[in-house]
Amino acid sequence: MIYLDNAATTRICDEALEEMMPFLKEEYASPLGQYSLGFRANSALNTARGRVAALIGADVSEVIFTSCATESNNLFLRGFIRNLLSTGMDPAHKSISIVTQTTEHASVLNTCEDIAREYDRVRLIKVPVDRNGFVNEAAYREALKERPDVVSIMHVNNETGAVNDIKRLCGLAHEAGAIFHTDAVQSVPHMRVNVREIGVDALSVSGHKLHGPKGSGFLYLRKGVIIKPVLTGGGQEIGLRSGTPDVVACVGLGKACEELFRHGSEDRTAARAASVFAAGLKEVLPAAVINRPGENMEDSGNYLSEIVSVSIPGGDALSIIPDLDMAGVCCSSGAACSAGRKGVSHVLTAMGIGESLAKGTLRFSFSRYNTEGEAAEAAVIVGRVVKKNLENHGILFK
Ligand code: PLP
Repeated sequence: MIYLDNAATTRICDEALEEMMPFLKEEYASPLGQYSLGFRANSALNTARGRVAALIGADVSEVIFTSCATESNNLFLRGFIRNLLSTGMDPAHKSISIVTQTTEHASVLNTCEDIAREYDRVRLIKVPVDRNGFVNEAAYREALKERPDVVSIMHVNNETGAVNDIKRLCGLAHEAGAIFHTDAVQSVPHMRVNVREIGVDALSVSGHKLHGPKGSGFLYLRKGVIIKPVLTGGGQEIGLRSGTPDVVACVGLGKACEELFRHGSEDRTAARAASVFAAGLKEVLPAAVINRPGENMEDSGNYLSEIVSVSIPGGDALSIIPDLDMAGVCCSSGAACSAGRKGVSHVLTAMGIGESLAKGTLRFSFSRYNTEGEAAEAAVIVGRVVKKNLENHGILFK
């Protein structure tokens, strides 16, 4: 199989798996245990936290382990709003507003909508994106005039790879007096993200997108930003995420972060493979539309090369994907983490891509484990399979 669905999840790296094994077998104590086995588990947790913090340039006290990025997003958004609602907001501050954008992942979008439904005092402003998938600057500035309390804008879009200029968006939000959160699930695996440099107050990351284990993730919360916990209990993770820490998952996440840091953003293996794939695809399927501005993958501006979104005019992704699977290529339609969802992607729709083209959109996403050879081979397979699929549906495709 040629696995090109790394934006959905990645293969765990051997180094992480190896470090996790003892904690699955003999080192199973709770890190709160007051005996040597517990002390060792606690020390492993501290090491993991240090590695995570080093990857994003944070202090160890600013890393809260969670089970996934969905949880990190929920913890921050719900926790922040709950804190505002529960602490002495000055009476002039009648309503609370959240600003986000229309192309966020469901774990941000649905959470914001849920919060707004739950609390009458919370108002949600969804800023549109431009046709390339970046935050619409004019609309964003307009939303900030409302002096929102919190802004949540993703760094890299999971369906298209569009990279928002988070440093600038965060600066504008701060000028307007808002706290800024970013979902960095798709950026951290591929680019150097330093929280001090970009200036964000909170940031969510998922372990399984960066060659760590499923069931791992973290929230970066800048010192001084106050949230209320969503889970109450024993007060683990500085009182913000109760529950016995999953040492195995944290150890794997920590090691995967260390490996990522070691490989560094200069590791262009995945980007090169993606470029080979995109170039090959253009040759075999010239009528396919690669959803990004610019011709050359490596030069396509603020787009992550590692995510290649391709629309097949007249095609149906849900019928092409099983054919590709049979031919040995794994890919997805839009956001695989909302699998089962049959509707047209809200991201492509927000970018103004018509329903029929959006329906025929496939997402191929690359990791450092993909080679240029298999990328070239995948392009040929995709060309062949797509043509055959369309032919079977009576559509002639160049
Ligand atoms: N945010 C983005 C941008 C994603 O792409 C995903 C998953 O694809 C998530 C959040 C959710 O991550 P997790 O599976 O760790 O909850």
